[in-house]
Amino acid sequence: MRDDLKCMQTAQTLLTWYDANARVLPWRVAPCDRAQGRAPDPYRVWLSEIMLQQTTVAAVKAYFERFTALWPTVQDLAAAPDDAVMAEWAGLGYYARARNLLKCARAVVTDYDGVFPHDHATLLTLPGIGPYTASAVSAIAFDAPETVLDGNVERVMSRLFLVEMPLPKSKPELMTLAQSLTPQLRAGDYAQAVMDLGATVCTPKSPACGICPLNRECRALAAGIAAELPRKDPKKPKPVRLGHVYVSRTIADEWILEKRPEKGLLGGMLGWPTSDWNEAPNASPPFTANWHAIGEVRHTFTHFHLILQVHTALPAAAPEGAVLLPNAEFRPSDLPTLMRKAFDLARTTIDS
Ligand code: SF4
Repeated sequence: MRDDLKCMQTAQTLLTWYDANARVLPWRVAPCDRAQGRAPDPYRVWLSEIMLQQTTVAAVKAYFERFTALWPTVQDLAAAPDDAVMAEWAGLGYYARARNLLKCARAVVTDYDGVFPHDHATLLTLPGIGPYTASAVSAIAFDAPETVLDGNVERVMSRLFLVEMPLPKSKPELMTLAQSLTPQLRAGDYAQAVMDLGATVCTPKSPACGICPLNRECRALAAGIAAELPRKDPKKPKPVRLGHVYVSRTIADEWILEKRPEKGLLGGMLGWPTSDWNEAPNASPPFTANWHAIGEVRHTFTHFHLILQVHTALPAAAPEGAVLLPNAEFRPSDLPTLMRKAFDLARTTIDS
């Protein structure tokens, strides 16, 4: 481990680099504005961090801008109907995040008078906030000297300190190293500086070491193995699950959908009826109709690949309990990506 003075110098080098190179992001207060005393809005920081879990900055930007236009404050979001929020979240994936987002907004309004708690321990008690998000919110929104360790920071630390132990075993060591660099002052800017360096300079395949502010002290660069780090334990192949999905519209021009159970994959989202998803799914349709198999759609979840056979029909009436949406009111963009893929395939046969 390096001494404190060296760590402070490294943090300062990164902050100076960040002052000139910070990415412009819709939820971020630029370092020059921060220096003028403009504080980040904790609601926007929290919302962005929840959206960014498992999702790229590029995918999140448009969602973030739509959410903050519709619900500019945590009070607005807390008062929003569940279905409207789930529909706006559609396509972003990991739908438990959206359910917890609402629970968290309502807890902040009810239990904290609409003011986000500042400290890590209290943030951790809120729905959907784990250790990473608690650190990110307390550092970025409140400048608390918390250490944020995402994939970008792991990569920078492994290279800077030449950590050859593979991930995920190396995580505790990388956290200790990242903590050793976290400064007491400007902790929020520093957290964003390391993430930006990892996202724009110290990139996974071909790090731009020539323009990196840390290139004089980077041990992986000196050893000539920068691009090989971080090492990773080989991933287990994902299993494949199978199933059937049923896309139909009544002769009165209403789409036949269902709201998925709150618990489980795509929980609480609107979708087409499906069979169960496993190695040998039961293929009995959800109701009697003249079903036609028209092809398949594929989708990858965190732990498995899914292949669904798509069936279509134009029944005379819908079964009891179905969610019926008139064609004029139906927005495919309200569906999660898997269901939208099934719709895109089905519409060609249903409309022809
Ligand atoms: Fe990453 Fe290269 Fe900078 Fe080292 S010198 S931190 S490998 S970009």
